[in-house]
Amino acid sequence: MKQRVVLALGGNAILQPGQEGTYDNQKANIDTSSDSIAAILKDGHELVIVHGNGPQVGQILRQNELAQAEVPQQPLPVCSAESQGFIGYMMQQSLKNRLPEKNIATVLTMTEVDGQDPAFKTPTKPIGTFYSEEESLALATSKGWTMGEDAGRGYRRLVPSPKPKAIVEVDTIKTLLANDIVVISTGGGGIPVVKEEEQFRGVAAVIDKDSSALRLSIDVEADVLMILTDVPNVYINYGKSNQEKLTALSLEKAQQYYAEGHFSDGSMGPKMQACIEFASLGKTAIICALTDAVDALAGKAGTRVVG
Ligand code: ADP
Ligand code: MG
Repeated sequence: MKQRVVLALGGNAILQPGQEGTYDNQKANIDTSSDSIAAILKDGHELVIVHGNGPQVGQILRQNELAQAEVPQQPLPVCSAESQGFIGYMMQQSLKNRLPEKNIATVLTMTEVDGQDPAFKTPTKPIGTFYSEEESLALATSKGWTMGEDAGRGYRRLVPSPKPKAIVEVDTIKTLLANDIVVISTGGGGIPVVKEEEQFRGVAAVIDKDSSALRLSIDVEADVLMILTDVPNVYINYGKSNQEKLTALSLEKAQQYYAEGHFSDGSMGPKMQACIEFASLGKTAIICALTDAVDALAGKAGTRVVG
């Protein structure tokens, strides 16, 4: 049966840990992801592809910083748009080379956030370059950035991570889907914008990709939200000797495990949160490894939460 699927790709679909981020690195990973995505499309499903962009935006910010004596620096939302553009190009081409008969479009996507979101008061999301303590104090003064220590690795700029309120291009995305066009959208959670007096304006923030994928899944009336990451399943007691693989999970069990703290804050937490909210609408949410996508859609791999 044909289903409308929102596929959220984790960071490893574009860059593996330890890789430099060359064009060839990214192309090889994207080609591997495209093999899985092409298999889903061959089964006749409608697809919106959402991807992460953390390392890529980091590199664009660094380029801006190093070149600032010659080329004006661009604000974070512009860097975010640049990353959506180049990642979209690479995915679009890779998929087209596998499925010449398919039409594929990248939609540069703005995600509206609330200017009053409490996240703006306490920036938490580290982005870009690592600095010494001294450099970080200088940047806090000169640029007004909030700086913070990141897991013993150095100081980084912290930006707010507000909740997604609306996907601005949702009607465009639905129109494309209705015309059998594969859509790549909401990359990196979408370019964060606020609306003031009916006017949109980009803001320095990063929206969690999995939260935006949930918003998008609801708004395009998807049947399935599928989050592809670097683990084949979700586990309870993850990383401990008594860890247990979860396969099919009722909404109640998922909520219970979430409340018991089995899913870490910056990684599995937001993914399970998105799955719980989607499943509570009576729909299906899946978390699995990239290479298990087809089997997971058929109920033969991954962890699924069913409402
Ligand atoms: P992505 O880049 O795909 O968004 P994340 O690194 O944010 O991936 O999240 C995936 C990671 O979540 C896994 O690699 C794993 O280390 C971690 N994780 C935390 N809690 C769990 C859990 N309960 N079950 C499985 N993985 C977990
Ligand atoms: Mg990751």
